[in-house]
Amino acid sequence: MSDNTLMYGYRDFPLLDFLPCAPVSKVPAPVFNFLKGPPYPAMSDGQPIHTAYAVRKMEASLLRRNKREDIYVAQNDSIESAIKDDTEVIGVSTMDPLGLGPTTMSYYVLFGGDPYAWVRKEWETLIAKINAARKGKKAKLLIGGPGVLEFFQMREELDKEGIDFAFSGEADDIMPDLFEQVAADNIDSKMFYKGYTEYDEKFSRKYKQDEKIISRAQTGKLYPRLEEIPTIVNPSVKGMVEVMRGCGIGCDFCEVTLRPLRYYTPEMIRTEVEVNLKKGGNSHVWLHSDDIWGYKHDNFFRPNEEELVDMFKVVMDTPGISGMNPTHGRISIPSGFPELMEKIQKILKAGPNNWIGVQTGLETGSETLAKKHMPNKTMPLKIGPDGSWEEIVWQGVYNETKYYWRSAFTLQVGQPGETEEDLWETVAMINRLSNSTLTDGRPFEFTITPLQNVPMGRITSKKFDSDLLNEAELGVYYASYRHLAKMASRRRSEGEGNMIVRAGTGAIVSVGGYLMMKVVEDVARKKGVDISKVKRYGLEQRREFSSQSSLAHA
Ligand code: SF4
Repeated sequence: MSDNTLMYGYRDFPLLDFLPCAPVSKVPAPVFNFLKGPPYPAMSDGQPIHTAYAVRKMEASLLRRNKREDIYVAQNDSIESAIKDDTEVIGVSTMDPLGLGPTTMSYYVLFGGDPYAWVRKEWETLIAKINAARKGKKAKLLIGGPGVLEFFQMREELDKEGIDFAFSGEADDIMPDLFEQVAADNIDSKMFYKGYTEYDEKFSRKYKQDEKIISRAQTGKLYPRLEEIPTIVNPSVKGMVEVMRGCGIGCDFCEVTLRPLRYYTPEMIRTEVEVNLKKGGNSHVWLHSDDIWGYKHDNFFRPNEEELVDMFKVVMDTPGISGMNPTHGRISIPSGFPELMEKIQKILKAGPNNWIGVQTGLETGSETLAKKHMPNKTMPLKIGPDGSWEEIVWQGVYNETKYYWRSAFTLQVGQPGETEEDLWETVAMINRLSNSTLTDGRPFEFTITPLQNVPMGRITSKKFDSDLLNEAELGVYYASYRHLAKMASRRRSEGEGNMIVRAGTGAIVSVGGYLMMKVVEDVARKKGVDISKVKRYGLEQRREFSSQSSLAHA
């Protein structure tokens, strides 16, 4: 099973999936419970019709060696009945169990006080429930997924929560062995390493022994090959389908770039889309990758237009599929390849009532930081010869808005080597984008969310407050939430459900967007931030970019 927070639809309202990152003290339980929506429905035996994609991969991997009747996919409501005397292993996939993720951190530093987010509360509730249900039985508790990294920082939590083992890494090819060995409490050292890998700032590997944390053995194959990754056999939440692993762009803060590139074949993609559609009724698809534009890319990360168009067509030509959106993508491709965006718009049938959402790590508005930490993120464009970083971003948002794509941008605040000047450049970029329009007068469409890099010492000290943020950092927060409030009021009618629920969700989100901006404004004022300076920063020296700039022909 997975984190409870991944088992709700958040009323399909843009950005509401981040709600569990908010502090428990600031979002009352009735509001949280309303906004997360009802749980996904279950079948008569208590197994969910839809569950997290990672759980579906775990299920598919285990089915390669085990019988169907020996595997049970549980959800919150079926935990007690699922764990029996002969249950051997309970596998739980997690994203942000201890609330140390960057979005959760950004709320901690803003609100201060007790760093206890909904993600952590829901995780603790889930683990307590599992532990109560397995008491006196032999079932071992094994956790996995990206959130396992958080236990490297707060190792004592593994013991406190009574977790038997945590697995770190990809395990599609070795899942049955992992489960069998955990069940027998007999980990084969030829196959697994008892401990984990850490990377320093230069990405050099260090190994740290630990009796409870398991990784793949340090020698031999460190990742599954493409043909060893099974396709899902039951539906995932939000119709999620994976299309590739790895990235290769090489941003210096990103671990994904170290993983080998593996591209799903059109047949694998079609199989997963059909499983979601036929067994789960998902007519909308979320195409997951860390950078969709990197799918089978050409030299210097030039987009492979033929392969991209084919991939989008494979999805959209599946009878019964009505729409899709990729999870992540770089801004430089919309920026430099408008003809490709136009072609894809037609395939995806994007329009005023069908915006294509995508998450994009913008990270900074600073030319210096962009060149320092992520010089390849604009490839095949080059910062300098093909325009400034800001110009590349501006052109990208122009083309995205024109072809009905809406980026959910994220920024990193607190990057190593960041200066106040870098942060003010980010404020300027947000303000300029927020006040830009297409030639037909349509405003630029995007959201922007600051994420906090918190030094490790601060995480382990467990003390957070806005003292961690300087004036310019708070300026970035305020400019971001000011734009978010603008977008929330513009988009109040989106989401799913009946008219009343949609209106209610829209109203809460729009008021919430406004209140959030006011909270940030209040924190910033108290810290002496000149609010009117933030509002106008960058607008006076506004640079006029042309929608016909040379980027359009790169
Ligand atoms: S483009 Fe994204 S996924 Fe790729 S290395 Fe950079 S941050 Fe990581």
